[in-house]
Amino acid sequence: MVPYVYDFSAGGRELADLLGGKGANLAEMTRLGLPVPPGFIVSTEACREFLRTGTEPEGLFQEVSRHLSAIEAGAGRRLGQPDDPLLVSVRSGARFSMPGMMETVLDIGLNDDSVTGLAKVSGSERFAWDSYRRLVQMFGSTVMGVDGELFDRLLTELKERRGAPDDVHLEAADLTDLVEAYKRLIHERTGDHFPQSPAEQLRRAVLAVFRSWNGERARLYRRREHIPDDLGTAVTVQRMVYGNLGTDSGSGVAFTRDPATGLPGLYGDYLPNAQGEDVVAGIRNTVPLAELEQLDPESYHRLRDHMDTLERHYRDLCDIEFTIERGTLWMLQTRVGKRTAEAAFVIAAQLADEKLITEREGLARVGGDGLARLMFPRFDAAATGAPLARGIAASPGAAVGAVVFDSAEAARRAAAGEKVVLVRQETTPDDLPGMVAAQAVLTSRGGKTSHAAVVARGMGKVCVCGAEELAVDTAARRFTTRTGTVVEEGTVISVDGSAGAVYAGAAPLVDSEVMRYLETGERSTGAVDAVASALRLADEVRRLEVRANADTPEDAARARRFGAQGIGLCRTEHMFLGERRALVEEMILAGDDVARDRALGALLPLQRQDFAGILAAMDGLPVTIRLLDPPLHEFLPDATELAVRVGAAEARGERPDPHDAAVLAAVRRMHEENPMLGLRGVRLGLVVPGLVAMQVRAIAEAVVERRRAGGTPEAEIMVPLVGDVRELRLVRDEVERVLAAVSEESGIDVRCPVGTMIELPRAALTAGRIAEVAEFFSFGTNDLTQTTWGFSRDDVEAAFFSAYLDKGVFATSPFETLDREGVGRLVGIAVAEGRAARPGLKIGVCGEHGGDPDSVHFFHGAGLDYVSCSPFRVPVARLEAGRAAL
Ligand code: PEP
Ligand code: MG
Repeated sequence: MVPYVYDFSAGGRELADLLGGKGANLAEMTRLGLPVPPGFIVSTEACREFLRTGTEPEGLFQEVSRHLSAIEAGAGRRLGQPDDPLLVSVRSGARFSMPGMMETVLDIGLNDDSVTGLAKVSGSERFAWDSYRRLVQMFGSTVMGVDGELFDRLLTELKERRGAPDDVHLEAADLTDLVEAYKRLIHERTGDHFPQSPAEQLRRAVLAVFRSWNGERARLYRRREHIPDDLGTAVTVQRMVYGNLGTDSGSGVAFTRDPATGLPGLYGDYLPNAQGEDVVAGIRNTVPLAELEQLDPESYHRLRDHMDTLERHYRDLCDIEFTIERGTLWMLQTRVGKRTAEAAFVIAAQLADEKLITEREGLARVGGDGLARLMFPRFDAAATGAPLARGIAASPGAAVGAVVFDSAEAARRAAAGEKVVLVRQETTPDDLPGMVAAQAVLTSRGGKTSHAAVVARGMGKVCVCGAEELAVDTAARRFTTRTGTVVEEGTVISVDGSAGAVYAGAAPLVDSEVMRYLETGERSTGAVDAVASALRLADEVRRLEVRANADTPEDAARARRFGAQGIGLCRTEHMFLGERRALVEEMILAGDDVARDRALGALLPLQRQDFAGILAAMDGLPVTIRLLDPPLHEFLPDATELAVRVGAAEARGERPDPHDAAVLAAVRRMHEENPMLGLRGVRLGLVVPGLVAMQVRAIAEAVVERRRAGGTPEAEIMVPLVGDVRELRLVRDEVERVLAAVSEESGIDVRCPVGTMIELPRAALTAGRIAEVAEFFSFGTNDLTQTTWGFSRDDVEAAFFSAYLDKGVFATSPFETLDREGVGRLVGIAVAEGRAARPGLKIGVCGEHGGDPDSVHFFHGAGLDYVSCSPFRVPVARLEAGRAAL
């Protein structure tokens, strides 16, 4: 039988699925011979089993007790032994880091007896009772479900009674009273007593950690980070070590490189005489790690050595939690650390330079989402003026928003469309909904590793933390700066997470350096160099071509600068708007062929001009032009408005404007209950006489014009929304007739590839037939997703997607990331059957998914030739296509 429990010495990071990230890395550090307090891990499988059945997995606690016995034997004392208790921590640790989202219980093993034993052996009554009150508090809230606020309130009241500014000033006798008060509170609220049996404490704590996988915070976090709901968490049980035993003790968090910029050097925060939780919670202000060198040089140098070992072993930026217990250094956690997008690129390039990793490994470690983030603007340093406050640059970027002081207000205003900045003294996991809703997070306490900083970085949110000069008064809903400026809730401020500064009002923005590089090739910073080399390598290794969706010469030119290898989708409907609407109206309203031909004739030169401009911007590269797709009534005025005008005239006893009346009649005639399933796409071409011919002629004549000007136009004609080969054949015949006619008239051969979009399930399922007529395929995955799921792409996001995301039906919208299982299967069928019928058939995708990192990997695997996306996503797609080919 597969065990549920693993000793630290039994595993390693290759078992991360089973042991969770935290557990696997503790095992790895143990294997490396670093000083890790002994412990064991209850596997994610046990958690999944528990969540599945709602009961304790069979035999689990026999295994736990066997592993506990081994630790007890090593320590020479038992869990909760009255005269010298062994104490353990019980922590969550999923496959993917979810900082602060699940539960932890420390000091398991303390009870009314062993607390005295701990007092004796530690030589500190105060320490023993403080540990006991922490246990009762954590156990009471986490395991027994008593509202955590009630414990905090008792603690605050006690401090007020004693005039103690913080808990360090409470004495042993105070804490003894507090433990009694906590126990009474638990009994009042639950009718149950705080358990005195150490084994029961352990058992219930493990199960509570399992349950916390499905807590509200954890679910929200997973949804945001796209972490699947069915992984479960592992539970790490470890001997306690103490950073709060006096000034020769302490706890800290450290990074082997700067997680904000990627620059080398040791970064971190240290808090003397404190437990690890105090550091992350930002309850007291920490000192920079460098100061540890003065406080405890031996531990400092040992820590540096261990960090070197870890960085070389993991070959990546590591973050570390450590505790010094009376001069002895203990490593409590490590993992490959979260970092900003900029740091990811810089670190990958540096590690490749240092030959710790290959360039290809470096490429695997950066990503399109990060690149997209680096393309956003920053504040203009020349125009911002004096900051309101400075703090720690914890998570970069520029954000402007109205100040709010709690999560509920942040969520309320954001839901109403307002941009907000969440301002807190420090954040806790309860602030997560507010952080999600806010553009930026600003705190007055806590270092680079505080909760606010870590979570914001993970989300790619702007964050300035530890702005100590701000006095944040949450109750009064205002903060005050050092110079006495008072900023009330609702006031707009600007937060610069790259510089660690906060400004009054909305500060002006400038383009990012990465954007400037993409536009001009100018390399102004190390981060830009790192991005450039990642893109260069991606271009070298990728198999997928990257094209752009563009329908103006300006967009086409930008896409080309960004590296697009052509246009994969030129939507011609955008050329039917503006002042041309009148002509389109005329075409639709035409009572006979003559009137229709007149309108089409007027549209022809305008379209020709559009196409010539785009073909010029993309000279020498393919330009796929799609024939008109949307229902025609989209080009007509709104029926209600017209009806009101016509009705008002009639009510006045006047004759309505005959044009209004004619248009209204046409709108009514053409009304469709489901226009997206109605007269659009290829169907338009088959029922509106002359439309296809006009568009094809415009394309062909633009090609002639470009050729005569010495250009190399490469037009391709694409037919949308085909469901059956016969539709395509009919349209194609007409296309070929016009191409032949223009070739004949001009003496220039304008024949070009004619292909189709695959955006209906029937098209995918009959792709073999369609390929007999289509010279290329381009997946329209927006419509294909819509028609495969039966989701209206225009309505569902508002209607029920958030419920679907909450309930875990999917982790991301299938309109954002391709649904591999369903839509992806159709893609696979169409590729296979299309190429079987027409070997070498060129196949691309031009739905939004063409610029989505995960989907790009899918299209690579599916054997497509190219992805096409909006110009701004082109660099992202290049990078991801390269990563997919590694
Ligand atoms: C698609 O359906 O994926 C597509 C590219 O076409 P449109 O978005 O214009 O419907
Ligand atoms: Mg479409």
